[in-house]
Amino acid sequence: MKKGLLYFFAFIFICFLLPAMLTNTNKKNKEIKTATEETHEETNEQEEPKIEYNYDKYGKIILLHKKTGAIEEIPIDEYLINVVSAEMPATYEVEALKAQAIVARTYTIYKANEKKHENADICDDSTCCQAWISKEDRLAKWEESTRESNWKKITDCVNETKGKIVTYGNQPINAFFHSNSGGITETAVNVWGGGNYPYLQAVETSGEEGYTQYSSEVVLTREELLNKIKQKYQDIAINFDDNEEIKIIEHTESGRVKTVKFGNHEISGVEVRSLIGLKSTNFEIIKEGEKIKFSVKGYGHGVGMSQTGADAMAKQGNNCEDIIKHFYTGVEIKDVNTLE
Ligand SMILES: [Zn+2]
Repeated sequence: MKKGLLYFFAFIFICFLLPAMLTNTNKKNKEIKTATEETHEETNEQEEPKIEYNYDKYGKIILLHKKTGAIEEIPIDEYLINVVSAEMPATYEVEALKAQAIVARTYTIYKANEKKHENADICDDSTCCQAWISKEDRLAKWEESTRESNWKKITDCVNETKGKIVTYGNQPINAFFHSNSGGITETAVNVWGGGNYPYLQAVETSGEEGYTQYSSEVVLTREELLNKIKQKYQDIAINFDDNEEIKIIEHTESGRVKTVKFGNHEISGVEVRSLIGLKSTNFEIIKEGEKIKFSVKGYGHGVGMSQTGADAMAKQGNNCEDIIKHFYTGVEIKDVNTLE
């Protein structure tokens, strides 16, 4: 009887438990193997030389999604549709959108060569590289009736300018652009210091005053102003009854503010813009009773192509090449594949 029971359990063990245990062990081994393979792949990826942007292949770029840290390799023109649709309203003139596509393509290639990011050519953060929006998010922000036509309009502008980039001395330029120049653009050195670029000169444009980005103002109480300046200058002291205590002491060649005196400090226009949150450095300071008003012209750093200026020029009958050659001095538009 006892023996019979033993045989019975042995039978159960061989038929059911043993195979189950073996399968489990195999599964575990497989899991470990997969994990090892992945790690190995990652290691391999790091050891491999970085993918260089290849003009001849003229194809793909590696985009870093800043928030998630994810990277993806995408055809450059596919990427540019998302960039142009993030950077410029679809309602803008076709020639302005085409200019934006060429400028964004140039900017992308310049950034890729600059190797700002270790594992990518460019990122999707507008404050670091260039704005980018997913198609899904972009479409959701447009009225349903315009979604298809807007997307097609931008896609066509990217495709019609395929391969075209802005060059100076047969090299892609550092194609800065901004929203509204307030009537005149700015040289790079006045914004970031350092060297200047021969193709980034101050140029005048008409028609930008018709856009909402052209004028804005910020009105602050004395205390609010002091608090904003204190972010950087803790010992700031202003005698508000003395008119000499707040005044612009120097302008750049384009008429933007270079230096402002605030009580015991002299602060650069670029810094004032950032501390107070002004749309540009093209501003006036007006005392309004107890309050201080900053009346601002233009939107953005002012260097390179003005997007509203591009649209205004297109409305005046200029094509994308006219627009680009207006904003970037002495440049040529070439096919990226003809460059070495
Ligand atoms: Zn970046």
